[in-house]
Amino acid sequence: MPKLKNKKTAGKKIVKKKAPLAKTEKIVEPIILQTLRGMKDILPADQPYWEQLRRVTERLARDYGFSRIDLPVVEYSNLFIRSIGEGTDIVDKEMYNFVTRGGDKVSLRPEFTAGICRSYIQNGMNVLAKPVKLFSTGSVYRYDRPQEGRYREHHQVNYDAFGEQDPILDAQMIQVAHRVVQSLGIKSVQIQVNSIGCPVCRKDYIELLTNYLESKRNKLCQNCKKRLEISPLRILDCKEDKCSQVAANAPQSIDHLCEDCRVHFKTLLEYLDELDLPYIINPHLVRGLDYYTKTVFEIWSGLEEGRKNSLGGGGRYDKLIKMMGGEDTPAIGFALGMERIILEMKRVQAKSYKPPKPRVFLAQLGNLAKKKSLKLFSELEKNAILVAESFGRGSLKSQLKVANRLGVELTLILGQKETLDGTVIVKNMTTGVQETVSMDKLVDHIKKKLKTDNVVIYHNHN
Ligand code: AMP
Repeated sequence: MPKLKNKKTAGKKIVKKKAPLAKTEKIVEPIILQTLRGMKDILPADQPYWEQLRRVTERLARDYGFSRIDLPVVEYSNLFIRSIGEGTDIVDKEMYNFVTRGGDKVSLRPEFTAGICRSYIQNGMNVLAKPVKLFSTGSVYRYDRPQEGRYREHHQVNYDAFGEQDPILDAQMIQVAHRVVQSLGIKSVQIQVNSIGCPVCRKDYIELLTNYLESKRNKLCQNCKKRLEISPLRILDCKEDKCSQVAANAPQSIDHLCEDCRVHFKTLLEYLDELDLPYIINPHLVRGLDYYTKTVFEIWSGLEEGRKNSLGGGGRYDKLIKMMGGEDTPAIGFALGMERIILEMKRVQAKSYKPPKPRVFLAQLGNLAKKKSLKLFSELEKNAILVAESFGRGSLKSQLKVANRLGVELTLILGQKETLDGTVIVKNMTTGVQETVSMDKLVDHIKKKLKTDNVVIYHNHN
């Protein structure tokens, strides 16, 4: 219907005067119905992959003797700054830093190791039998430029072992990382290993490397020119073509290891050979963090298409606990990126977790039966019988439709008469045969019908 024009205002432009804001009135900002850039919801549809990943990583942690540890997401900023090191991308550009209302300078964790070391020292774990093996999982925050496989909030699983310097532990950690991805169905992986030496031999090597890189300074990218002063090692890791060319002829750390580091690395490689693990020595693998010593490694995938993708990585950090104020404690750890692993699982069409399906449906008819049905459901649940229902529906027909759609084997029908008699009708959905079973025999009856060993025990954590 066309709007009727008011005679007085016809032909005139109506300018509505804004009512002045009352002094107490606040401007209400609209709710932005979006996650922050680089952050994602993990929706139910994706959960079977996460569940599979959680199950495999937790099982392997248990099998290899790791105890679970959970830490706060927020720690004092200085913990990360001092351990990861100034001059690294994480500390200089990527940390979520803020000051609390109480004036503490804190950060969202950009990785796990620093917090785990803090907890090791704070909780006196040095008195525990060595190696102390810890497993942790949760979210990690890095203010990076988001793209596929790189997020501002991502999740990691982290395995660390303290108090053992024997290279057999390095080999075992690499074995665990490899077992995780293999067990998830990611078969085409490559383990990249390198040794960046200890502070003693690394000092001489860095000098040699710096001299070489200085002589090629004008061939380096802007970023690497800056890195030359603070962390020349990381130039070897630069993805820019021109820097890779310079790096190709650079002196390599493994040629300049002291005797102790050389033997450590050689022994590690012997263990990896013994395990038949698909490793290659990558002299340019340095990892972006300051705390590493000796062994560093990464797990790469997606090699068929030539696109390399780091699923995880780690290394030794023998000096970190002491540097933080604890006892001299050798240590090694690695982190796997959960989102990256899930992307890869999808790419290779790996199996995701299939939750057990209910084989029994509970239908109710009438008010009295409806009231009793919640209790009956929980009785069955307590007896590890997984049951489906559609309590919101009234008619038996529509409930049976749901039961059929779910493909259950038995439907329990609880009506007014059955409720008063203390019985339930058990309908075999394949044959259509119905039996009336007394309530106190119901659990046994169902178990027998479904054959006891086939009953889905959904509390089972295998
Ligand atoms: P890093 O210690 O930085 O090598 O991280 C360990 C693993 O976490 C990497 O190999 C990736 O799989 C994953 N990862 C690191 N940064 C991100 C990110 N920004 N988004 C998603 N996954 C990441």
